[in-house]
Amino acid sequence: MAIWNLGSINADMIYALPHMPTAGETLAATGLEQYLGGKGANMSVAAARAGSHVCHLGAVGPEGAWAVTRLLEYGVDTRHIAQLDVPTGHAIIAVDPTGENQIILFPGANREISADQVGAALSAASAGDILVMQNETNMQAEAARVGRDLGLKVAYVAAPFDAAAVQAVLPYLDYLFLNEVEAEQLRDATGKTPEALGVADVIVTLGAKGARHYDTTAGTTHDVAAHSVVPVDTTGAGDTFTGYVLSGLDRGLPMAQALAQANRAAALMVTRKGTADVIPDLKEVQDASF
Ligand code: ADP
Repeated sequence: MAIWNLGSINADMIYALPHMPTAGETLAATGLEQYLGGKGANMSVAAARAGSHVCHLGAVGPEGAWAVTRLLEYGVDTRHIAQLDVPTGHAIIAVDPTGENQIILFPGANREISADQVGAALSAASAGDILVMQNETNMQAEAARVGRDLGLKVAYVAAPFDAAAVQAVLPYLDYLFLNEVEAEQLRDATGKTPEALGVADVIVTLGAKGARHYDTTAGTTHDVAAHSVVPVDTTGAGDTFTGYVLSGLDRGLPMAQALAQANRAAALMVTRKGTADVIPDLKEVQDASF
């Protein structure tokens, strides 16, 4: 089977600054590091490293070929990534010596994906494949509708949170992923608890407290306690978690086992600095000493 990921691809550009700039100030950075990022790219890398065939459905600009090459090197199928005449999505991340950051996000090509591109890519999918989306691209509702019609299992990660965007895809979903804050925001927006959203499986991640799975068909909840690790950098933990859960399901694991594997992968991820470039593979996850 395969995982189809309609997702963002960003260049994360991290500028080291002597202090945060104030209004009107011109400030020279003391360093620049560039990494592959974006929730979509992170999730594709996680699911590919976990052992799944992942087709990334997205777009970059003329200067984004390096990001596509990087995804390919990490085992992602990049045939359905378009190269458009708009800039690649990027995050300009300013970090001061205390580690505090400020982020400017430019969606660029991520929000210029066409319905034709989505339709052409998904026409190559097979019933039973998984389609996953986050909220850093356009075309989510269109893809969810097409995916459902083709018999795909449809998953959505409600981040960055947008109540209207979640509500537009809810009727098509088999799996919904939320973090604790997003779960609260969705409850405020809909007046409904996770059990009452009409989605078969809702997974709420709870940071250092682990995760909770609502199996709304069976009417049960299942808690997964987080592993005890010393956190170094929690960036990408949620994306790694989701990529591993979906890969586990794609590889035929029952939900409880997919969640357990994802919980180990995400714990390992919080002990590492960086995002897509440091997501662990399945062997590292299985060999981890916790
Ligand atoms: P997001 O980054 O999307 O907000 P969370 O913070 O809820 O997501 O974290 C996602 C998953 O990462 C958690 O469900 C857990 O498995 C793991 N995780 C996050 N923080 C920690 C931590 N401090 N210790 C161990 N595991 C963690």
